[in-house]
Amino acid sequence: MNLNDKYFNLCYTKRIHEFAKIDSFKKWEKGQAKEKYRTIDDFYLDELQIDLENLKELRNLFKQYDELYRRYRQNNIERNELFSDYKKLLKWYNDQNECCNYCQISQADLFKIVSARNGNLTLNQKTKRSKGTLEIEKLNPNVGYTPENSVLACPFCNNAKSNLISENDWRTFFTPAMKEYFKNILADENR
Ligand SMILES: [Zn+2]
Repeated sequence: MNLNDKYFNLCYTKRIHEFAKIDSFKKWEKGQAKEKYRTIDDFYLDELQIDLENLKELRNLFKQYDELYRRYRQNNIERNELFSDYKKLLKWYNDQNECCNYCQISQADLFKIVSARNGNLTLNQKTKRSKGTLEIEKLNPNVGYTPENSVLACPFCNNAKSNLISENDWRTFFTPAMKEYFKNILADENR
């Protein structure tokens, strides 16, 4: 395992961010990590045999992955497979240009709509979906979150399509309307 993979394993697979996790990872008695290390960083330096500069470089290297992890994976265990290989995850994400896979609206345009609606995408002030972040949608709901079966989708497409309309039917019947709808909102925005 190279250094990047080792870091990834500790930070995202084993999710070692507290002393108790170190104890169980090292198969130590409870409390031993706390005696040995002053901070969690000290554990990383020791375990990876690197200095603080190297650790900063590693964190920087995983910056985009970390952002995506916080946004989409955090407590969503179902998405483990999609996030288990950081190179594949970043390729999967970046290949989509931060656009809805159906209607092609970009993340930047979604944020424009959010600010046009005074900071809340939803019309009834409910917080879910209010920030206008692109969501991860499974093309085939009966298959897991693999890179092949997952796409970015805007909250509009994802919510309206739901599990009632198939991927192909959504593209055929509703995507053109979505595009028109957004064109209209964004034209108002620019006026
Ligand atoms: Zn869309």
